[in-house]
This record gives sequence, C-alpha cells and structure tokens, in this order.
Amino acid sequence: MVITTDDLELVCPNCEGTRRENGLPCKKSTEKGVIILTSQGNTLLHFIKKYTSE
Ligand SMILES: [Zn+2]
Repeated sequence: MVITTDDLELVCPNCEGTRRENGLPCKKSTEKGVIILTSQGNTLLHFIKKYTSE
C-alpha cells in the first residue's frame, strides 16, 4: 500500500485556500493553515497517537 501526502492532507475545501468564507475567517482552516487532514489522514494520526501516547 502506497500512501502519498495527497491522501492525507488537502487544501481546505471550505475556503479553497483563501482562509476566507463570505468575508469571514474560515472556521475550518484558521488554526493550522489551509491544509487540513483527510479522513485517511485522521485515521493515520489516531493510529500513531495510539502507539506514541502513554
Ligand atoms: Zn478553510
């Protein structure tokens, strides 16, 4: 199985990278920029946390 970063993260579809939504700051991309995790990225993140947190 090959995973590319495109499978794990993508430019926020809510604002399409502009960080603006109808003149307001985009709610989904203000904290960590306009790159957001895909569902596959979230799954991998939770999997890693499972083994890295005590
Ligand atoms: Zn956004």
